Amino acid sequence: MIKKVRRHIVQDEPLLFEISSPGKKAYQLPELDVPAVDAVEALGAANVRSEIEGFPEVSEVENIRHYTRLSTWNFAIDLGLYPLGSCTMKYNPRINELVARTEGLAWGHPYQPEELSQGAFQILATLEKYLCECTGMDAITLQPAAGAHGEMTGLLLVRKYLESLGNPRKKVLVPDSAHGTNPATAAMVGYEVVSVKSNDHGMIDLAALEAATDEDVAALMVTNPNTIGVFERDIVKAAAILHAKGAQMYMDGANMNALVGICRPGDFGIDVMHMNLHKTFSTPHGGGGPGAGPVAIKKHLEPFLPVPRLKRIGRKYSHDYDRPQSIGKVRAFYGNFGVLVRALAYILAHGGPGLRNATIDALLNAQFIRKGLEPYFDLPVTEPTMHEVVFSHDRQEAKGVKTGDMAKRLIDYGFHAYTTSFPLIVHGAMMIEPTETEPKRELELFIDAMISIAKEVDEDPQLVIKAPHLTRTPRVDETLAARRPIVRWKP
Ligand SMILES: *Cc1c(COP(=O)(O)O)cnc(C)c1O
Repeated sequence: MIKKVRRHIVQDEPLLFEISSPGKKAYQLPELDVPAVDAVEALGAANVRSEIEGFPEVSEVENIRHYTRLSTWNFAIDLGLYPLGSCTMKYNPRINELVARTEGLAWGHPYQPEELSQGAFQILATLEKYLCECTGMDAITLQPAAGAHGEMTGLLLVRKYLESLGNPRKKVLVPDSAHGTNPATAAMVGYEVVSVKSNDHGMIDLAALEAATDEDVAALMVTNPNTIGVFERDIVKAAAILHAKGAQMYMDGANMNALVGICRPGDFGIDVMHMNLHKTFSTPHGGGGPGAGPVAIKKHLEPFLPVPRLKRIGRKYSHDYDRPQSIGKVRAFYGNFGVLVRALAYILAHGGPGLRNATIDALLNAQFIRKGLEPYFDLPVTEPTMHEVVFSHDRQEAKGVKTGDMAKRLIDYGFHAYTTSFPLIVHGAMMIEPTETEPKRELELFIDAMISIAKEVDEDPQLVIKAPHLTRTPRVDETLAARRPIVRWKP
């Protein structure tokens, strides 16, 4: 039944410390032609560490093989579908890596004189222009380094703007389908978080929103399409409710890969939003970055954007620090430049029609998976599927099998797990996002695997409950692994 993998690579690999032997090294230097100097003498005892012991000593080939073998223990987008919903784990064209590594770009330094940075500034300005075009917004800052960082920047803008009107207000509304970063951000920026209920269609309940919106509300943070993969059809009405009370509409745009080229948040009432360039615009992610979370805004928020702003006079760009209402800096220099280069390369390579096609393919792929799996799994929200689809484990739970068990079993079939137990409003959520880059054959293999797992649940639930069986390490205690990780080797 398992079509994709027969078994996983299980080469045992000791630690470098364990294969170390004294005197081995992975480098070769010419013999000294000057007198040797003692480190303590040259640097002073205070500057030389003495407590490092047992550093591994290995040859070059041992070193290379060690890390190459370790890399085979991991799943990667280069091995197959990585259906982790909300995360948009798509394949990113290699060519954009090459572009980001171009000598003049990779070696440029943010402190080099402005007249030597004109090319880099032009890249930033062009990217700003295209991202404004994609979102329908008036201006943008490229500084924030991630989605959550963009959220914080965006809410600081809202706060500063409301302060300038005389009252920063007290509360931020967050739908119960929101990504966990949204309420965390609102709390960090000093707002009280008020949860707004979703209705049976998985969308914001307008009556609940209306009831919650008063003149203490600074903003609503809405994700669209939301984390159930459903487009908030009433977004214009929701914006009107907020605006009527002088509050702002914040959009978490991490799911822009479902909208680019089709519709624009600026046209449906959004005042401020972030994007995840590492989800939508071609920076590989996972493993902690780097990323970029640009924040796009409507004109009334522009005076508050982080400094410096790019200023263009004639053909010359320079930095404008003279912005008295700015929230200040949110990151060193101008953001993660390499990520911004990749995003512009991706946009220019695709052009408008190409970006639109990528969006349509993302929607089509999610739809394809939904249709393939609908007969086998419960689908609590049946609104049209955008870029991701969320099933529930309800049917399988009757046999004692939960979303996490099936996700572990999926590993045996050669796929990365889907997102489990999120969003919280779907009981036993199984959140699947194929992205636009998956070929039909891979989607079919995935659907086959999921159907096969559904059958295993019927016939032999223990097989699924005890999965994975084919990996190097069997199921681990995830709580213990997170709470008490042992990360230091001792002899
Ligand atoms: C990924 C994601 C975020 C957070 O982005 P980071 O870059 O991980 O900080 C926020 N909201 C949604 C909906 C996301 O999918």
